[in-house]
Amino acid sequence: MSRYDAPRLRAALAAVPEYVPGRVPRQGCENLKLSSNENPYPPLPAVVAAVRRQAGRINRYPDPACTALGEALADRLAVPADRLVFGTGSVAVGRLLVRAAAGPGDEVLYAWRSFEAYPIMADVCGATSVRVPLRPDETHDLDAMADAVTDRTRIIFLCTPNNPTGTVVRRAELARFLDRVPADVLVVLDEAYIEFVRDPEAADGMEFQRTHGNVVVLRTFSKAYGLAGLRIGYAVAHPDVAAVLRKVGLPFGVSQLAQDAATASLAAEDELLARVELLVKERDRVTAALRELGFGLPDSDANFVWLRLGDRTAEFTEACAVLGAAVRPYGADGVRITVGEPSANDTVLRAAAGWRH
Ligand code: PMP
Repeated sequence: MSRYDAPRLRAALAAVPEYVPGRVPRQGCENLKLSSNENPYPPLPAVVAAVRRQAGRINRYPDPACTALGEALADRLAVPADRLVFGTGSVAVGRLLVRAAAGPGDEVLYAWRSFEAYPIMADVCGATSVRVPLRPDETHDLDAMADAVTDRTRIIFLCTPNNPTGTVVRRAELARFLDRVPADVLVVLDEAYIEFVRDPEAADGMEFQRTHGNVVVLRTFSKAYGLAGLRIGYAVAHPDVAAVLRKVGLPFGVSQLAQDAATASLAAEDELLARVELLVKERDRVTAALRELGFGLPDSDANFVWLRLGDRTAEFTEACAVLGAAVRPYGADGVRITVGEPSANDTVLRAAAGWRH
């Protein structure tokens, strides 16, 4: 062994898949980056001003308890502040949840396809992933998921709206599901795209979190609030769960820039949600136009749409790339297309029309 051979790490980590980020379009075509479910609109002036104010203080550590933001958010969600835990993006909080609940020999249950971070979260903790296929209409099969619960199941992720299919879990089916799941198993509702939901029957995790101690709601400022670059998301959980997550979490992880930007975003929520409404209208326009072109796709309640193109996935991705648009292919399953500004969406529709004919 040479002095510069790599030291020994946990063998199980060698098999962990890398998270694949969305593709980047050619230079100068940033508005055509439709591969990462980002918000296409730049931050509001009030949010930029909050970040600027804080920029002169970055020699100091941030408030580790996220006090001001926690109070504003607790008020907004009408929950006690001790149920809130912040992290560097909701993906980081999801990782904490798996770490807190599952280890080798334990099972992490989720639908597939779903958010690609779940298998990584499970693998990193040495836990076993159990995947339950989506139904043919691309929705969660909650009956099959409840059937898949064993005495080793420690944590269940329900992604609603589901990334990448855009489909939601409905209130009534979630209530039935929670009745079947043991009360000591965490059920995480990953609601990264909740602000884009318009289905009146869709479940709202907060409703269930108030009455079920095992339900955790994960939300983020990255999507509707447009703060992806600052990395801030949060969980709403039972106070005992929240306390453990804070212990497991990285101290001072969430920067003061992110905390202040999030607080300013809550204060400017009306303006931000008006932008969300524009994106929802665009989503529905894109969905209708794709159907008109002959594509079959599920109703989406998120800021993206899903085309199950099977082995033609790469071909469609390339057709978009030729016009400068970066979309997100998933192997031989399908393509996820983020809804962007109208002109960017028109580019995808042009690619789709050309590809179809
Ligand atoms: N959950 C889902 C379902 C997502 O799609 C994403 C972002 N791709 C996240 C969580 C994480 O978002 P963030 O870490 O930026 O809060």
